[in-house]
Amino acid sequence: MALERFMELANAHYYATRDPFGAAGDFVTAPEISQMFGELIGLALGEVWQRHGRGPVAYVELGPGRGTLAVDALRAMKVVGLTPEVHLVETSPLLREKQRERLPVATWHMGVDTLPNDRPLLIVANEFFDALPVRQLVRTFGGWRERMIADGPEGFEPVPGDCAMDQHVGPHLRGADPGGIVEDCPAAQAIAYAIAGRMARQGGVMLAFDYGHDGRAAGDTLQAVHAHAYADPFARPGSSDLTAHVDFAALAAAASGGGARVVGPVEQGQWLMALGLSDRAAALARNAPERSNEIATAYRRLTDRDEMGELFRVIAFVAPDWPDPAGFA
Ligand code: SAH
Repeated sequence: MALERFMELANAHYYATRDPFGAAGDFVTAPEISQMFGELIGLALGEVWQRHGRGPVAYVELGPGRGTLAVDALRAMKVVGLTPEVHLVETSPLLREKQRERLPVATWHMGVDTLPNDRPLLIVANEFFDALPVRQLVRTFGGWRERMIADGPEGFEPVPGDCAMDQHVGPHLRGADPGGIVEDCPAAQAIAYAIAGRMARQGGVMLAFDYGHDGRAAGDTLQAVHAHAYADPFARPGSSDLTAHVDFAALAAAASGGGARVVGPVEQGQWLMALGLSDRAAALARNAPERSNEIATAYRRLTDRDEMGELFRVIAFVAPDWPDPAGFA
C-alpha cells in the first residue's frame, strides 16, 4: 500500500488504542508541559474576539489529545467574558472519552466538514497537522515513483511503486539523483483549505502550532517515536507515533487559496513571550512558591531554542474581516 495509507492506518490504530501523552507514554506536548500554554492561547483568542466585537463564536480544536489545552484556553477566555460553544475534531474513540471527562458539554466531529456554519470559528490545533499522513515520491533510475510499503522477508519496508509520478514533481526535480525523496501532506492541505473557506464565509481565526519547515527542506521527514525515543517507522505499525514535519509554506498556500489571510509563521517561543509568558510564569510562581522550580522548568521547555522554542512555530489563518491576532508582530 502507499506509504500515505500506511501512515494513516498506523496512526489511527495508535491513537485508538492508547493515551500516548506524558512521562509514562511516548511523548510530551506543550499543553501537557504547562497550563500557561493553553491559557495564553485562550487569551490571544479572547483578545481578538473582543477587538472584533464580542459576538457569538465557537471554539474548535483539532486533535485535542487529553483536552488539556481546551480546558486551559476556555478558562482564560472566560476571564474576558468569552464562553463559546465547544467543538472537537477527534477520530480516536479512546481520546474522545478522555476529552468527555473534562469537557462534558463539547460536540465531537470526525472532520471539519460538520463544524457549525452559523458563526465565526476560533480554531486551535497543536501537534495535529504533523500526525496527518504524508505522501512520498522517490526518484528511481526509471523516474519518480510513489513510495509504497511492502511486506518483505524482514518485515515492512519501503519500495517504489509501479506508476510513473514524474508529472507530480516540479520541473527542477525531474532530473534529481536516484534515491531522492519529496514529501507532501494532501490531508493537511485539504484541511487548511477547508478551514480558510470557513473563515472567508463565517469569520474567525485559527492558530496552528507544530514543528516544521518552510517548504524548501524537501525530503523524507517521516519519524516514529516510542517511549520518548526514535523508532523504526515501519516496524510494528500502530505501536509508535508517526509524524512528519509540517510544511508551513504549503499550509499557507492552501489557506490563502481558500480565502483566509495568513499571518506568520513565527517561532513558538517568540510568540509565547510576546503574549506575556514571563509575566504569567511570575504570577503563577507568586501564587504557588512551592511550584516555582517546576514553573521555571516549563518556561524553559516552552521557549529555549534547543527545546520547543525554535523548532515549533505558530501560524494564523484569519478571516478577511477579522483583525490579526496578537503575538505575530
Ligand atoms: N493537541 C494534543 C494532542 C496532539 S496528538 C496535544 O497537544 O497534546 C494528535 C491528536 O490528533 C490526537 O488527539 C489524535 O487522536 C488526533 N488525530 C490524529 N489524526 C487525526 C485525524 N485524522 N482526525 C482527527 N484527529 C486526529
